[in-house]
Amino acid sequence: MLTDLSFDELQIYIKNLGLPSFRADQLFDAIYSGKTLDEISNLPKGLKAIIEPSYPKYSILQALKSKDGTEKFLIRFDDGAVVECVLMKYKYGYSICLSTQVGCRMGCKFCASTLGGLARNLSSGEILGQMLLVNRHLGGSRKERKITNIVLMGSGEPLDNYDNVLKFIKLASSSKGLNISERNISLSTCGLVDKIYSLAEENLDITLTISLHATRDTDRQAIMPIANRYNLQDIVQACKYYYAKTKRKIYFEYTLIKGVNDSKDDAKRLKALTSGFLCHVNVIVLNPVSERSLQKTTRLEAYQFVELVKKEGVSATVRRTMGEDIEGACGQLRNKFLGIRN
Ligand code: SAH
Repeated sequence: MLTDLSFDELQIYIKNLGLPSFRADQLFDAIYSGKTLDEISNLPKGLKAIIEPSYPKYSILQALKSKDGTEKFLIRFDDGAVVECVLMKYKYGYSICLSTQVGCRMGCKFCASTLGGLARNLSSGEILGQMLLVNRHLGGSRKERKITNIVLMGSGEPLDNYDNVLKFIKLASSSKGLNISERNISLSTCGLVDKIYSLAEENLDITLTISLHATRDTDRQAIMPIANRYNLQDIVQACKYYYAKTKRKIYFEYTLIKGVNDSKDDAKRLKALTSGFLCHVNVIVLNPVSERSLQKTTRLEAYQFVELVKKEGVSATVRRTMGEDIEGACGQLRNKFLGIRN
């Protein structure tokens, strides 16, 4: 699809069609403004007919707005696959949470995205496409960029789709395109350790976020199958390496599950796991997925846990929950659409 191409690659594509290079500018502008082929007025009909099979026909199937302003979109790709993405409004502007795969094969017990397994990877252009559609939905274009921040925290495991995600980061940060600063892009992983080492070598200024969710290997194994492949010490070593290479603060996501990972001892062990590099712990209140038996804590309990963690000298906050009234947690809206019980 044409969304997979960088500007340079699009120029080559246009050149190979025997067309002048200004056509590449026009086409790139149309793609990055989220226009449909029909809406492009400055390209000849003959050219449109040639590019038609490669021009994306992604669409927003459904848009839901939460009371808190968060918006969730169900996006359909050309083969009929659907994913969701979430738009969050902050003081500084809009941040978008993008999916990187259709479904997920990581199998985390608390997560709705993984209930139907992995259908397929998204291409770089499909990850970008979510953003182009939502930017357009907000009245933006290539020149008028409405979204300033990206979090790769939607459905899927970004490091399980490494090459496409990396290419997406290049596309999104390209000054010719939406020009999102790498510093404003976060990638969240459940901890594919070998891929964290690879990412450290890519010379990117992005923020690495690790879904930690437990402080003992046995507890982590009970909720995250990936913990059988890599233990907590493997993750800590990889974080230290990533930090040494990039000098970027690392973020940990820590979803509180009642009676599983919320004890005083957990707070103490968090200290040991997060020492030796700059990091911050985001404590999240579980958004219960009804098919799973895991219990959430109250917000008050989350604040109390954060106090314990802070007492240990670890930087930590409770993360704002957004969009709870619109099936806000990973994968919930898509499941509803597909008839998979959350
Ligand atoms: N696969 C990646 C990114 C997608 S999940 C990862 O694991 O990081 C994005 C974040 O939401 C992760 O921290 C994940 O653990 C968390 N999450 C998923 N389901 C949740 C739920 N029901 N309640 C709270 N957090 C959840």
